[in-house]
Amino acid sequence: MINVENLNLEIIRQWIQKHKPIELLQEAIQCDSVNPPGNVMDFVKIIQRTLYYYGIETEIYRSNLEKANIVAKVKGKHKGKRLIFSGHLDTVPIGEKTWDHSPFSGHIENGKIYGRGSSDMKSGLVAFIYAMIFLKSTQALSTGELVFIATFDEETGSLGAQQMIKEEQINEFDAMIIGEPTDNEIVTSHKGALWVKVDSFGKTAHGSMPESGVNAINGMKSFIDDISGISLFKDNIDQDILTKSTMAVTMIEGGSNYNVIPDYCTSTIDFRTTPDKKNSDILNALHTYISNTSKKEDTPHISIKPIVNLAPLNTLDNTEIVKVTKDTFFEIYNINKITKRMNYFTDGSVFSSISRNIIILGPGEPSQAHQPNEYVNIKKFNQSIELYISIAKNYLKSS
Ligand SMILES: [Zn+2]
Repeated sequence: MINVENLNLEIIRQWIQKHKPIELLQEAIQCDSVNPPGNVMDFVKIIQRTLYYYGIETEIYRSNLEKANIVAKVKGKHKGKRLIFSGHLDTVPIGEKTWDHSPFSGHIENGKIYGRGSSDMKSGLVAFIYAMIFLKSTQALSTGELVFIATFDEETGSLGAQQMIKEEQINEFDAMIIGEPTDNEIVTSHKGALWVKVDSFGKTAHGSMPESGVNAINGMKSFIDDISGISLFKDNIDQDILTKSTMAVTMIEGGSNYNVIPDYCTSTIDFRTTPDKKNSDILNALHTYISNTSKKEDTPHISIKPIVNLAPLNTLDNTEIVKVTKDTFFEIYNINKITKRMNYFTDGSVFSSISRNIIILGPGEPSQAHQPNEYVNIKKFNQSIELYISIAKNYLKSS
């Protein structure tokens, strides 16, 4: 048994060397959890088996035969704060480009391990698991509770996280670390996402007599042109990414034949929102535009429906989890860290409805997420285990 009083980086490093977490990461990468279809059950079994081996029980919340959330807990001897380690089980598809090694190989070369999900974010998940195992087997937590959660369908709009909250699979917590790829930087803020389906309804006619119909594609074109001109959606000249909301038309479809005036057109628009240009502001602006324009008889009727509606994350630098994480970097590596911001959204958008004390910190490289030949640097992976152990110990100590 490791003497907790003398717990230091050297002891943690020796423990990591002995327990070889890279082997579990390799197995995790070899397990296909590409979304769609997002079948994560094989991966769930691997996690359950590993935690069980070290005496940690898992709660599995199935959504259907292919999808489930996982919750596992390690409790300190005394009551105290609750810290959550959070990640997602699914990955994006492998893409069209051929990979140098199979995306499910877990190939190791020059200090890197390759495969889909290596950076985003199986490395973060496996690092959390080993940090938890360390803290359980050394009984290093005297107070509080450490909870590990892993969700399905994050890549398609954080559906697993939403179900987790709706069904109260987790309850209140004091702070959360999300292991998405940040290259082990501390990220406290990211954009929100608002994906909207737009339908344009017109009236069909023969292509030789367009004036007898109402062209749904023309209606869609005007809608997109007009809302692109609304100042709310224009790029801000400020280069701080969190003040720059964006809008992109991502899908469009309409018409039935070369010589028919289309009576229907549909599109999707991907808005990325910021704390001062909220999702609700954008939806209100869209509704106002529609009610002002679609009263005329000869214009198509436009309707909108949000498909994904996730708030931005904006954790303040003076929250305890941020302070403890910075202090831990200094304590174990002698590094003064500053916090950073990112573009992509995470499950943090959903969980921020419970607590605002959320940071993103993971070993993956943000530039590798969703790319062919995705890899994670093994040194960063091991470093994230050191960090997760030390942050959890320091944060829960002050319960
Ligand atoms: Zn991710």
